[in-house]
Amino acid sequence: MALNVRPFRLQLRGQPRHWPSTGAAPCSRFTSWLFAPQGTNDSAHLKQAAQALASRVNTFLRRRAALRALAQGLSFALDRGLPLPRVPPVNRVFSALSTTIFDTMSRLAREHGAVNLGQGFPDDPGPLDVRQKAADAVVNGWNQYPPMMGLPELRQAVAAHYKRFQSLDLDPDSEVMITSGATEALAGALMALIEPGDEVVLFQPMYDAYLPLVRRAGGVPKFVKLKPPHWRFTEDDLAAVFSDRTKVVLFNNPLNPAGVVYGAEDLALLARFCVRHDVIAVCDEVWEHVIFDGLAHRPLIAEEGMRERTVKIGSAGKIFSLTGWKVGLVAAAPGLMKVLSKAHQFITFTTPPNLQSAVAYGLGKEDAYYTDMRAAFQRSRDRFVAGLETLGFPVLSSTGTYFVNVDIAPLGETDDAAFCQRLVADPGVAAIPVSAFYAEDAVKTVVRFCFAKKDETLDAALDRLARLPR
Ligand code: PMP
Ligand code: GLN
Repeated sequence: MALNVRPFRLQLRGQPRHWPSTGAAPCSRFTSWLFAPQGTNDSAHLKQAAQALASRVNTFLRRRAALRALAQGLSFALDRGLPLPRVPPVNRVFSALSTTIFDTMSRLAREHGAVNLGQGFPDDPGPLDVRQKAADAVVNGWNQYPPMMGLPELRQAVAAHYKRFQSLDLDPDSEVMITSGATEALAGALMALIEPGDEVVLFQPMYDAYLPLVRRAGGVPKFVKLKPPHWRFTEDDLAAVFSDRTKVVLFNNPLNPAGVVYGAEDLALLARFCVRHDVIAVCDEVWEHVIFDGLAHRPLIAEEGMRERTVKIGSAGKIFSLTGWKVGLVAAAPGLMKVLSKAHQFITFTTPPNLQSAVAYGLGKEDAYYTDMRAAFQRSRDRFVAGLETLGFPVLSSTGTYFVNVDIAPLGETDDAAFCQRLVADPGVAAIPVSAFYAEDAVKTVVRFCFAKKDETLDAALDRLARLPR
């Protein structure tokens, strides 16, 4: 039997450059053809059939590789305005991606001298005492590898913090881990939990990192489409995507970009589906402290049946308005945490110890810090929304995150991306088209603005928006 497979295998080893990185489908299809004639003893016939097959496989792969290289070259060159280079075959999920909308809009804002209300980061430099702690720790503290799971003082501070604000009981030793931002926590959780072919429920609009990470882990996305103005999901929406093939649901609450804070009923409904189908919830709660109008954040992990099946992810970057800090806070039951830590140990292993010390200090800050931070962002939201409404822009409700959305349909606009391209050039305000948060069947008439800015910045943006012909 070695005879029938050898030509095929030799071809694959000899020409790895043409083998598609995610070419499982053609590979298994051709393999089964190759094995089909195994019942016969005619070795010459088998050899001939195998060689013909090997040649077909290689032609197929060469064509695919050529097309892929062309697509890669095109997207690379278009991104940078360069002549087309030849790029060797690389991973299909990432090579097919363009630069994130956040980076793209920030670059356009710089090029056009626009007021940047696109990428979500505050004007405010963040609490001085927390930054001072980090500086002290850099100068006087430990700058070698901290423990893989995070500094013990920070893990204790995380457990105490979530006890104080969300009534959770977490064991700092076995149920808390520190990562390099929520982004690493998300990547690690998806790598650690998904087997190729597992279905993953995602809610659109979704944060831009989710889908590529799910696909790279081999997950098969199943989308729930959320729509303005309320962005809520129903029992029917969940029934349409959950099944016993569902492994993970990735849920973002409060939801960026919609600015929605999901409450008791929504969480109970989602928890019921998770329990019914034995699903793990990866819950991106980075905006847990940035909520307004007296609302309280409810963590999905506290819902009935969810304690053992939820990965709760927070971000110090959002808690302290220091978005560049990249300190992620992960909480999960010990069984789940063990496997999450295995991914973390080989993605980054650790997170800078000085930032960890400062975050440990910050998480212990008095309640007033948190209420004042919310009040300040809420005031900015109200100022910006009032300005937009005075100018006649239809504004959608936002009760959390740094973002507020404008419905551009009543302005006669049908393409949010084109609208944002025009807006950044003239009158010079950068915003984010919400269609960028959809993978299919996008809502194309909503534009996101970041209001986490000084009054002068918001007013300058409003002055420019006033010049927009309507
Ligand atoms: N998830 C969501 C929903 C976000 O909005 C962001 C960034 N704003 C992140 C994850 C990334 O968080 P971090 O910067 O801690 O990686
Ligand atoms: N989370 C930020 C936003 O939604 C952007 C983060 C980033 O640029 N990757 O604007």
